[in-house]
Amino acid sequence: MGKKRYVGVDLGGTSMMAVVANEKGKVLGESDSATDRSSPQATIDQIIAQIDGALADAKLKASKIEAIGVGAPGAADPKTGVIAKAPNLGWTDVPLGPILEDRYGVPVAIGNDVQVAILGEHAFGAAKGAKRAVGIWVGTGIGGGLIADGELERGARGAAGEIGHMVLDENGPVCGCGRKGCAEAYASRTSMERDVMLRIAAGRASVVPDIMKERQKTRMTSSVMKRALAANDEVMKEVVAAAQRYLGLLAGNVVNMYDPEVIVIGGGVAQRLGEEFVGPIRETARSRFLRPDPDERVRIVHAGLDDYSGALGASVLARRNA
Ligand SMILES: [Zn+2]
Repeated sequence: MGKKRYVGVDLGGTSMMAVVANEKGKVLGESDSATDRSSPQATIDQIIAQIDGALADAKLKASKIEAIGVGAPGAADPKTGVIAKAPNLGWTDVPLGPILEDRYGVPVAIGNDVQVAILGEHAFGAAKGAKRAVGIWVGTGIGGGLIADGELERGARGAAGEIGHMVLDENGPVCGCGRKGCAEAYASRTSMERDVMLRIAAGRASVVPDIMKERQKTRMTSSVMKRALAANDEVMKEVVAAAQRYLGLLAGNVVNMYDPEVIVIGGGVAQRLGEEFVGPIRETARSRFLRPDPDERVRIVHAGLDDYSGALGASVLARRNA
């Protein structure tokens, strides 16, 4: 006990991070980088460079680690370690698990990025110790994950937790999944960007284009959103408030259906804005509870591990699979 160390990799479409962590979630070494998506091989080489970097930072040889875990943005087969489809990386059928096993000679576990992040929050963060917890991750899309009896609940077909595609209005805007009116179509960062740009196109004044130009961003990132809110931008305030309203309805639905001890709101937006983002979501959600909760036993909070939810969660996945 205590001496075992695991590598966790948080593989994202825009950035990646590898950590070496012990069983208690202490980060012993880390390395991160922007994601090179020019080819699957380039991305894989970069993953290996981050793992080697984290090992060097921890002053450890690869032979001193027990296992590796990876959270990947897409559909991964936990049995074969093959990533069948990861649109944000441009990947189809990439055998990342076997490639890393060959290279490092330890077991490699591959999981979905959001589910892995929730595993991290459950092991060490905002949902620590909870038997029933739900994660709602707001980013390019909206991902989700369920903890039941202290374990990740994958569902009968491994398809559980698609909280972002709960329908709030079947005649609503088109979602990334091709259907209409899913929560993701209202409240993902992508949807908020669409709504900000629609208002600007309709002639509303906003500081968002200037902030994006100044920061050389082609997308409305969470840091751009934070800056615009700090500048009291009316368009941004309106759009974020609408997204919070929908996320509140979503969280209320989740509580009525699943009755968790805690809902963790994560992803870049929640991380950057913290309680400013989660407070109004909580308020709306609580107004929808069928069973009153005067003692506030149902907690609705932002993720507690900052940038590390995914990488530490991947180290937990590695340990469970070792
Ligand atoms: Zn959808």
